Amino acid sequence: MSVRCRLCRHEIHDADVRVCCRCGWVMDKWCAENHRPWCPRLGAESWLGAVEI
Ligand SMILES: [Zn+2]
Ligand SMILES: [Zn+2]
Repeated sequence: MSVRCRLCRHEIHDADVRVCCRCGWVMDKWCAENHRPWCPRLGAESWLGAVEI
């Protein structure tokens, strides 16, 4: 059974680096770090303040 990182699409073979974010995304731990600032769950406050042009 293999899981794909939702951010970079790489397969995650090692359960140690697999992270299931609170928003439901499954990622490797490096992508989870990158994802955190714009995660709709974890970064709710900064997300609301962010303006995308
Ligand atoms: Zn990844
Ligand atoms: Zn998330």
